[in-house]
Amino acid sequence: MSKTVVKFGGSSLASAAQIKKAAAIIRSDEARRFVVVSAPGKRDSSDTKVTDLLYRCCDLAAAGEKFDEPLSLIRDRFSGILEELGVTMDLGREIETIRAHLTNGPQREYMASRGEYLNAKVISAYLGFDFLDAAKCVVFLEDGSFDAETTNQKLSAAISGSSGVVIPGFYGATGDGTIRTFSRGGSDVTGAIVARAAQADLYENWTDVSGMLAADPRIVPDPRSIHYITYQELRELAYMGASVMHEDAVFPVRKAGIPINIRNTNAPGDEGTMIVPTLPEGYTSQRVTGIAGKTGFSSIHIEKSMMNTQVGFGATLLQILAAHDLPFEHCPTGIDTMSVVVHTDHLDPVRQSVMDEISQRLHPDILKVEDGLAMIAVVGEGMVFSKGTAAGIFQAISDAGINIRMIDQGSSEMNIIIGVQEEDYALAINSIYQSVIKTV
Ligand code: ASP
Repeated sequence: MSKTVVKFGGSSLASAAQIKKAAAIIRSDEARRFVVVSAPGKRDSSDTKVTDLLYRCCDLAAAGEKFDEPLSLIRDRFSGILEELGVTMDLGREIETIRAHLTNGPQREYMASRGEYLNAKVISAYLGFDFLDAAKCVVFLEDGSFDAETTNQKLSAAISGSSGVVIPGFYGATGDGTIRTFSRGGSDVTGAIVARAAQADLYENWTDVSGMLAADPRIVPDPRSIHYITYQELRELAYMGASVMHEDAVFPVRKAGIPINIRNTNAPGDEGTMIVPTLPEGYTSQRVTGIAGKTGFSSIHIEKSMMNTQVGFGATLLQILAAHDLPFEHCPTGIDTMSVVVHTDHLDPVRQSVMDEISQRLHPDILKVEDGLAMIAVVGEGMVFSKGTAAGIFQAISDAGINIRMIDQGSSEMNIIIGVQEEDYALAINSIYQSVIKTV
């Protein structure tokens, strides 16, 4: 029988009504036997996530202040859910355990994990599934890094043969039982880890949108949804700011070749987005999968005549950046010119010293920094197979009267990166979307 790991996010489990929707989705398919849950999220825009209430309790307790108010909000939240679901659980005892922890030197990560812990207990009872505490099988090392291989062994052993199990997302523990968490939104990562351990056929990530959009809807009105995207394309778009799930959630499933399906708990009939190792037949004709971008870049521009004959020029430049802990994003070069694109935020603290060292060690004819740049990534594996995509992109930008400041094409030919001035950013994205993405 096929195996599906389902992960439900905070908005999908924010209330008893939402939990009922999630349960109906789980019960509608026997393959959905491995369930990973977030803590209850926001019920509406003015609501507070349970995880944030837990952090607030912890901060108040650490400052020696009263934490009764946020703690009673958490208790009320869960007791309301329990009552409406008709589930009985000793909530009073659970809350007292949390209160005792808060009074005796609270640990932030332990506190943050309690939302997932309690929600998984409630939902497992409601579904009649087993509860598996992530502290027992999601392993962290003493330095807080995640131990993927030990986790995989422990988790596989714990869930193999299970006919239904609910696992809290977001946290695990070190060998001595100290609770550690992933970064915010980390239940997505737990879902991926469970999918790998279960050798699942599919990892379904249930959220409140029907998949990923081909462009940011705050910039492009009504962008189309993406049906299929490869792991690599997702990585490129996510790196440039398109977010649909926690970035680290791709690695475990990618390693195991398990597809991810982003689905909408509020519209379960929608197909959502499939994140796959390779695009299915027919989809290679999809030239461009999506577009994303970011503002806040600077370009360090260097000119020196006969630069091309000076072996090690580029290496020295990059060494200077590395010595200042300054990562670079792109590095387009000409015969006698070289530019390095960096985040302005990263450059600012070391700007003077980097410029001084470049002048002293490389003696450039011209050295200048251009701030206020935006980088736009047009991503699509199908670009390799299609003639004229690049021409279409540049035509669109030129028709919009925008000056291109930089072009970089990744060696995979999966992306074209375009640098423009920040004031042209939204217009450039819109123009490219309308002429090369909307129409394919
Ligand atoms: N509850 C955690 C958060 O709010 C983790 C998650 O929902 O994935 O970040």
